[in-house]
Amino acid sequence: MSRMDFIDIELERLKAEGMYNQIRTIESAQGAWIVIDGRKVLNLCSNNYLGLANDPRLKKKAAEALECWGVGPGAVRSIAGTMSLHDELERKLSAFKKREGTLSLQSGLLANVATIPALVDSAEDAIFTDELNHASIIDGVRLSRASRHIYRHSDADDLREQMKKAGSARRKLIITDGVFSMDGDVAPLPDLVRVAEEFDAMLMVDDAHGEGVLGSHGRGAADHFHLHQEVDIEIGTLSKAFGVMGGFVSGSGRLVEFLKQKARPFLFSSAMTPADVAACIAAVDVLSESDTAVKKLWANGDYLKKGLREAGFDTGVSTTPITPVMLGDADRARAFSRQLFEKGIFAMAIGFPTVARGKARIRCMVSAAHETADLDQAIQAFREVGKELGVGG
Ligand SMILES: *Cc1c(COP(=O)(O)O)cnc(C)c1O
Repeated sequence: MSRMDFIDIELERLKAEGMYNQIRTIESAQGAWIVIDGRKVLNLCSNNYLGLANDPRLKKKAAEALECWGVGPGAVRSIAGTMSLHDELERKLSAFKKREGTLSLQSGLLANVATIPALVDSAEDAIFTDELNHASIIDGVRLSRASRHIYRHSDADDLREQMKKAGSARRKLIITDGVFSMDGDVAPLPDLVRVAEEFDAMLMVDDAHGEGVLGSHGRGAADHFHLHQEVDIEIGTLSKAFGVMGGFVSGSGRLVEFLKQKARPFLFSSAMTPADVAACIAAVDVLSESDTAVKKLWANGDYLKKGLREAGFDTGVSTTPITPVMLGDADRARAFSRQLFEKGIFAMAIGFPTVARGKARIRCMVSAAHETADLDQAIQAFREVGKELGVGG
């Protein structure tokens, strides 16, 4: 055995257990239809909720910024990488989110990694995290020295029990996804706010799948529940509904001032590029001006869910445009996805470890870019593959 043979052994194990991920390459711009292996397929996989990833308004602003500001930021934000574009994006995001301040970061993942260890950093602190929270929250939690308490999914009573046990902690931080990405359910923020207030804990919501989707004009989960003041920290991504790249933290002015001194990805990794920032500004402008795309996204989500249910499929507990089709067995979900692809429908099978064993599914992501005829074609393909595999109506 040589010292790196473990790599082959581990790769073989992943393949044998059906957990090896074959990554597909997209040969076109993002949109309702994309090209894979030289074939045009219907895209039910991307997080491009509002169709902004290839929007001419965003591209124009990005191209102008490229001309004016160049390609690279040249430094980290805290040394020489903060351009007036970054300040403008943060001002506009704060106005959009109806919060005092916003810090933009290079990705949603980094927004979590930046924020969590900055807020709770000692063994005297305690973190309370939903069992289904996103991997980037888990990474942020791992980077903190605080004690960890994992509460049952969206269960405020279990959270309360865990808070009682950790009663004497110096600082307490509750973290939840706003919208859970695999099931499409929304966190019970009013209940979590009540527990947070009872125990004087900070409440942080990672709204990566709620931003641009929930609330007025897509202002997110806190806006949906009218809890702008009660949710202390809102994490967002600019890479999903906003269509570009990047992440942010919104909250009080002092929170942002504090993170600018403490957050390691802000201090030690270079700023977002000018073109990305300009495209993000354009996305915020588009969303602030009009909610047409948000409304179309929801109409499309409702249409697809209704069609799949009528075809006899179980679409789980989703109350958002995320549409899982529950199939249980991971092999069956993978076979289903492969056969959909043969019919020109690109929809991913998701199994363990992303979701629990026995809860494999096809996850359909609709967007405002889909037309009704596209969704009809998807529903028809689901019916046909369901018949071939003996699932559904
Ligand atoms: C996608 C996602 C992220 C990561 O966002 P990126 O901008 O892609 O890094 C973080 N949190 C949640 C809940 C997500 O779904």
